[in-house]
Amino acid sequence: MKLPPLEYACPSSLSEAIALLASHDDAKAIAGGQSLVPMMAFRIATPTLLVDLRKLTELRGIKISADGVRLGALVRWRDILDDKRLATAHPLLQAAVTHVAHYQIRNRGTVGGSIAHADPAAEMPGIVVTCDAEIAVVGKSGQRKIAAGDFFVGALMTTFDHDEIITEIKLPAWPPHRRWGFQEFARRRGDFAMAAAALFYDQDTNGKASNAHVGIIGVGDLPLRLTEVEAAINGHAVDEATMVRAAEVTSATVNAQQDIHASAPYRRSLAGTMVERALQDAAGR
Ligand SMILES: Cc1cc2nc3c(=O)[nH]c(=O)nc-3n(C[C@H](O)[C@H](O)[C@H](O)COP(=O)(O)OP(=O)(O)OC[C@H]3O[C@@H](n4cnc5c(N)ncnc54)[C@H](O)[C@@H]3O)c2cc1C
Repeated sequence: MKLPPLEYACPSSLSEAIALLASHDDAKAIAGGQSLVPMMAFRIATPTLLVDLRKLTELRGIKISADGVRLGALVRWRDILDDKRLATAHPLLQAAVTHVAHYQIRNRGTVGGSIAHADPAAEMPGIVVTCDAEIAVVGKSGQRKIAAGDFFVGALMTTFDHDEIITEIKLPAWPPHRRWGFQEFARRRGDFAMAAAALFYDQDTNGKASNAHVGIIGVGDLPLRLTEVEAAINGHAVDEATMVRAAEVTSATVNAQQDIHASAPYRRSLAGTMVERALQDAAGR
């Protein structure tokens, strides 16, 4: 389908981009275009001005320090997969991105675009919520940081303003011996998740889990942290009994949606299975 007529701008500074976005009520930033262009082709999004972020080099790059991992908003899926440092600095992030779409889309799609688009079945929103990431945005009223848990409010809905630009996503530091797992069920490889679980925990010297973070993707209308499941893991050895219990608690408590692909009870059951399998991976590491 052809796109509707629109204006296009490609600013070379962040301040120019912010001014352009603020100049039109229906202006939109464009990064990789992998979600926005299809939305425009289907007339779900109808911006009259596109503000292309491609020249904003300050939004590129992956920085790793003792403080954590900082992803510029224009970091592409490909950049994450190619960065060998992330195998230790954030293995959960890298594992999740292996499930994002296909080669061509991974060459263009960006982390900032994914977070802004806020598809509940997309991997990156689930990772930022699971990992307590902080999202930096800048607009005409200045810069602010939003906790990932406060960022998503529903399917394709977020708390940042239309004239704000996401600049950076900060994932807290990842300790070397952390246990983690990522499991996803999709109809075909590279499709959005029908259900996925992203989780990690730390293990004390007695073999008991602490600091469990369990996130679920593609089940509700936004990525969710499952606090009841985390409580079922913390303070326990992650053995078969704990895994089965965590799966049961997931299926009993997760807020699942139904759509053309699956009923809510099916998604609840699948979510439990994903959590159990992700815990098996974590315990085996
Ligand atoms: C066939 C296909 C399969 C896909 N499969 C998956 C999948 O399995 N998992 C998955 O996670 N994704 C999938 N995607 C989506 C893909 O990952 C997109 O790249 C991503 O969701 C959006 O990134 P983008 O850079 O392309 O954003 P764009 O399409 O350029 O923008 C998307 C939205 O974000 C806004 N935006 C972009 N950057 C910023 C910024 N820095 N600040 C503020 N707003 C911004 C835009 O205004 C727009 O509203 C798929 C896409 C396609 C076409």
